[in-house]
Amino acid sequence: MVTSIIQAIQYNDSEGRLLTYDVRSRQSSSLGLEKARIRFRFSHHRFCVGRYILTSELEFVLQPCPSISKQSRGKQCEACANVDESKYLHAAHLGGKVPHRVAEYMAQPHWLYVAVFADGDVKVGTAAQSRKTRRLAEQGAVCADFVGVVADGYLVRELEDQVSSSTRVSQGFSSVRKAQAWVNPRPLIELESICASTAERVRASSALIWGQSISEKWRARSNALINPRPGQYRLPFGGIEPDFIYDWEVLSVQGPTALIHTHFASGAGDYVVDLSALIGREIDTDLEDSAEGGGTGPAMLF
Ligand SMILES: [Zn+2]
Repeated sequence: MVTSIIQAIQYNDSEGRLLTYDVRSRQSSSLGLEKARIRFRFSHHRFCVGRYILTSELEFVLQPCPSISKQSRGKQCEACANVDESKYLHAAHLGGKVPHRVAEYMAQPHWLYVAVFADGDVKVGTAAQSRKTRRLAEQGAVCADFVGVVADGYLVRELEDQVSSSTRVSQGFSSVRKAQAWVNPRPLIELESICASTAERVRASSALIWGQSISEKWRARSNALINPRPGQYRLPFGGIEPDFIYDWEVLSVQGPTALIHTHFASGAGDYVVDLSALIGREIDTDLEDSAEGGGTGPAMLF
């Protein structure tokens, strides 16, 4: 019997939250991750997370999968993928018809930004006005610079493609790579320097293409990931083993990555976790104290 499914890692502005869906009560819950103690066990199977639908306030909400489909690959079943409205965002500028609300969403001003991650990787990206800084928090960026703002979501993606092509700045990284970057993060001052020099290149390219550019700096709020404790030794934590009971104290969360402290029989440690690996998993948090298991830690996958 499926109990709850982890649907997503979401951000209310800068606060990371775990969105879960209780299959029996048909209720979604949102758990603040920062400083949370999470004790859970995973199922063997992965389940469909549902579909993103735009509300009349032009907010994307995640509706649960009606059939709670098991997934052998991908995050969504075919039925959910067919009605998911977020899929249009990245391809709308390439042509084709989009639903009415998606067209409304695209009609708001959109920003082009340069974002820098913990190991100095840089990307160029876009954010709708209504999700301007939340987008950076979701990405797990350490610092960023908004380099342009245009009338709508079609123009900004054209601009992104052209700027990315001319400057060879990437449009994205995997969550696994983002998590790896937090094992040995570079000092903030270095990351800000990388951000400034990359933003200057992108602004020059943007100005050539669109005739204008701006500069509006953003920095993630300070947390335990960005400011390591003196002498802190971080380990990559990639393995999710079915039926193993996990007991995490979340020290901090940044985009899809969390820094956790955990107690294994083999020793306590601070681990960097790619939380996106949890998405679609059944989670059973209703565990008896006596059920605590495991004499060994999880396997290291990266
Ligand atoms: Zn589904």
